[in-house]
Amino acid sequence: MTKTDDNCIFCKIIKGEIPSNKIYDDEDFMVMLDISPASKGHAVLLPKYHAENLFELPDEYKEKALKVAGKCAAAIKKTLNCDGINILQNNGEAAGQTVFHFHIHIIPRMSGDNLGITWVQKTAEDNEKLAEEIKSNM
Ligand code: AMP
Ligand code: ZN
Repeated sequence: MTKTDDNCIFCKIIKGEIPSNKIYDDEDFMVMLDISPASKGHAVLLPKYHAENLFELPDEYKEKALKVAGKCAAAIKKTLNCDGINILQNNGEAAGQTVFHFHIHIIPRMSGDNLGITWVQKTAEDNEKLAEEIKSNM
């Protein structure tokens, strides 16, 4: 692990100081089953690099993360024969993040499971101007 935080629960899990049920492990990532799952087979992907969130994570990890998430999601789908999978990633308390070490949720879905990962759609306000503003901040 290239960067670690002694007070971080996910860093402790990566170091093996706290047990976990791993489904994937390589030099850069591990994926474990979530201890309080939203559904059966809910897994969490962690880089072996302590970055608080997406904004702090080096690009090299971002590139590989989706590849590993896809591989694990396919294995979970095959195992559970679920109808769908959500790939979710929370950044910041306001977005529901509770553990401040970047992670990606892999959440199996069954038709009609009513997990509640939905939102009420709003009417867009001046998306043309907003798109230009966002582009100017790239
Ligand atoms: P988030 O709310 O996006 O920060 O997600 C943190 C996730 O980590 C939650 O789904 C927790 O249930 C999960 N979690 C926390 N501690 C552990 C642990 N020791 N082993 C496995 N999953 C954990
Ligand atoms: Zn950490």
